[in-house]
Amino acid sequence: MNDVLVTENIQGAAMNRLIKDLDVEFDEYLWQNRDLLKQKIQKTQALIVRNQTQVNQELIDAAPHLKIVARAGAGLDNVDTQYAHEKGIVVCFTPDANSLSVAELTIGLMLSLLRKIPEARQDTLTGGWNRLKFTGSELYGKTFGLIGMGRIGTLTATRAHAFGMKIIAADPYLSADAPQLEQLNGQLVPLDALLSQADVVSCHSPLTSNTRKMLTYQHFCKMKPDAFFINTSRGEVVDEHGLTQALLEHKLAGAALDVRETEPPLQSPLNQMENVILTPHIAAFTLEAQNRVVESVCQDVRLVLSG
Ligand code: NAD
Repeated sequence: MNDVLVTENIQGAAMNRLIKDLDVEFDEYLWQNRDLLKQKIQKTQALIVRNQTQVNQELIDAAPHLKIVARAGAGLDNVDTQYAHEKGIVVCFTPDANSLSVAELTIGLMLSLLRKIPEARQDTLTGGWNRLKFTGSELYGKTFGLIGMGRIGTLTATRAHAFGMKIIAADPYLSADAPQLEQLNGQLVPLDALLSQADVVSCHSPLTSNTRKMLTYQHFCKMKPDAFFINTSRGEVVDEHGLTQALLEHKLAGAALDVRETEPPLQSPLNQMENVILTPHIAAFTLEAQNRVVESVCQDVRLVLSG
């Protein structure tokens, strides 16, 4: 019997202390080997994962001693929480620990899109000095449209508001007089209105059965041709084929995607588009956020294992 099984790359001071104090098996690639994972989990009391390990009914059934599933990060779409609860297994995650980092990356992507920073860098590296070609737009006075205004959406909107942007949000679970909107003079609008009004549309909704492929080609066609789309939430919320088609047809000006429908992504026409910025799901990867995430999951595991 081992106390703890870590199936993805989850490192830091708190993990080192956990490894010293408990019997921890650490294999950052184990999530890729389902058969081995099912074998190892038979003797495990605590499972620590990021978002790659699919903790579904089949895996839970293979784990008779499992007491806790600790998800290092936000979003529980890779864990069958209902089935875990039925089996009396505690599920914890770290919804607040990396929100700020995601919000900051979103602002970074927005500035990169509007000021064409990655294209200008690439051009300069290859000998260019094309100043006019890289004329961009200011954030000031533009409309920032948030699809989902929870933790990350609110932190992002606060920062966008500080740049002088007007805030609008579409969120079916938010009321028009919600304090996070009032504080930013923000307005709750239907999704269609958001898409047609915003200069930058940024998605911050969770992945659920209701939101899977929620944003389709038809939605992107409603955007202004000079508007940008950013997704730092979950790739499956977007119909990536539809987005690609809309970009090819210049229905919108560009996009930045930190998350993809398939991760790692398959070959895609998006790779060749100068007006598209692609990052490998790094929004939560800052030293500060990862320290908070790892501290939190290790503490939760200690609490549950100590009864
Ligand atoms: P949250 O639960 O605090 O907020 C989500 C908001 O989306 C809520 O206000 C909810 O009402 C709203 N929402 C639900 N369904 C909606 C719909 N159909 N349309 C519009 N809004 C809807 O979540 P959060 O912590 O702010 O996280 C937001 C997203 O960011 C999640 O998808 C999460 O998985 C993702 N995330 C990504 C990274 C990354 O590394 N890129 C890191 C952390 C979180």
